[in-house]
Amino acid sequence: MKILFDRPTVLTLDKDERVLDDAYVGVSDGRILFVSDEKPDEFTPDRIIPGHNRLLMPGLVNLHHHLPMSVLRNYADGHDLQDWLFNYIFPVEERLDARCVEYAALLGIAECLSMGTTSVTDMYYFIDSIAAAVYSSGIKANLSRGVQGGDGFEKGYNELVESIVNHHKPGGLLRVDAGLHGEYTSSPPVWEAVAGISKKFGVPVHVHVSETAREHDECVKKYGKTPTRLFSDAGLLNNAICAHCVHVTDGDMELLNAARATVAHNPASNLKLASGFARVAQMRGMGINVGIGTDGVSSNNAADMFEAMKLTSIIQKALTGNPMAISAAEALRMATQYGAIAQGRGDECGMIAEGYDADMILLDLDKPHMRPLHDLHSLAVYSAKPGDVVLTMVRGRVLYENGVFTTIDIEKVKAEIDGYVSKKLFI
Ligand SMILES: [Zn+2]
Repeated sequence: MKILFDRPTVLTLDKDERVLDDAYVGVSDGRILFVSDEKPDEFTPDRIIPGHNRLLMPGLVNLHHHLPMSVLRNYADGHDLQDWLFNYIFPVEERLDARCVEYAALLGIAECLSMGTTSVTDMYYFIDSIAAAVYSSGIKANLSRGVQGGDGFEKGYNELVESIVNHHKPGGLLRVDAGLHGEYTSSPPVWEAVAGISKKFGVPVHVHVSETAREHDECVKKYGKTPTRLFSDAGLLNNAICAHCVHVTDGDMELLNAARATVAHNPASNLKLASGFARVAQMRGMGINVGIGTDGVSSNNAADMFEAMKLTSIIQKALTGNPMAISAAEALRMATQYGAIAQGRGDECGMIAEGYDADMILLDLDKPHMRPLHDLHSLAVYSAKPGDVVLTMVRGRVLYENGVFTTIDIEKVKAEIDGYVSKKLFI
C-alpha cells in the first residue's frame, strides 16, 4: 500500500529537527519513502491524504503503561500508593481472567491510538491475552510480565520465560522485555532470576523504581542500599526501563547513567498519587535517557501523552526555577525518540525520516487553540490535545481515523468491559 500525505505541515523531529510547510511525505510497504518539498514523479499512491490545515508528526511512544488497567479506570481514587495498591487494586486483579484482560487491553489500545500513541511499553500479566490484543489491533508494543516474589513467583517466572519465547520478535510489532514489578514486591533471589532471563534472552528489564518515599526509605532501612543500588548489584540495570525514579539519589542517577538505563517518567501518575517530583531536568543534564509514560489509567486516569509531555516540561521549570528547563522540543524527543531507544526501536521509529517506519499521527490545525503557528514544537506540547488527533498510522496502516477504529470493534469492546464491571469484578 502506497500512501501520500499531500502537503501537510510536518514536524519531523528528525536529526536536523526539520519543520516543513506544504511537504510531501510518501509511505510504501510500511516505511517512509520520502519527505520532500517536491512530489516525486515516479510515485503513484493508492491513497492520497490531504494535508491542508493538518500537522504530521511522529507517533508518540508511551514508555510506561498497564494497558488492561483500563478496566480499573476511575475506581478507588484518593488513596496513597501502598493503600491503593494492596487494599484496592491487587484484590480486584486477582479476579481478572484472560478474556477480561484481552478486552481491557483492547480498550487501552483504542484509547492510545485515538490519542496519538503508536507504541507502548507495558507491564502486566496474562501476556498471551495482551499479545492477542496487540496483534489484532496493529499497535506496536513492548510487553513485560511483571514478576513478583512470594507465592506467585514460580508462576510469574514461568510466564515471563514463555512470553519471551512465544512473542518476542526483534524488528516485529511486538517485543517482550523482562519484567520485575518492583523491589518492595520481590526479594534478592527474584532479582537474580530476572537478571538471568534478561541476560539469556538479551532483553532489558522493565521495573518500578523508587516511586514513593516510603518504598525508597524502607528499602534503605531493610538492605542498607537504595533500590537502584540493589538492582545495579543484581545486574538488572543494563539498558533497563526504570519507571518513576522519583526518589532516586544523585548516586542512583550515576548508576542509571553508567548502565545506560532509561527513566520512564510519569508526571500525571506521580502528581495524582502524591508520589513527588522526579528530577528529570537534572537527569537529562547528566545525559540519562528519559522517556515519558502515563502509567496505568487507574492512577492517571487517561493515557494522555500530550498532557504528559506538557506536565513534564512545566513541572521541571517550576521545580528548577528555570523556564528554560525541558523545552517543548526536548519533551517531544522524550515522548518519541528517547522512548523508541528504550524500546530497542531507536533505528525504527520516533521521527519522520526516510527509511523509518511510517508511525505517524495527523493533527487538526483548524481549531482556535491551534492558531497561530508561531512555533510547532510549542504547539504540539503546550496547546495540542488528544482530541486534535485525526489519524494514527502504525507501519503504514491507518488504525484510527476521524473517530473510527479500523482494526478494533470498539462497541463490542465497551460492551464486554461493561459486562465485567456489572459481574461484580469490584467490591
Ligand atoms: Zn506502573
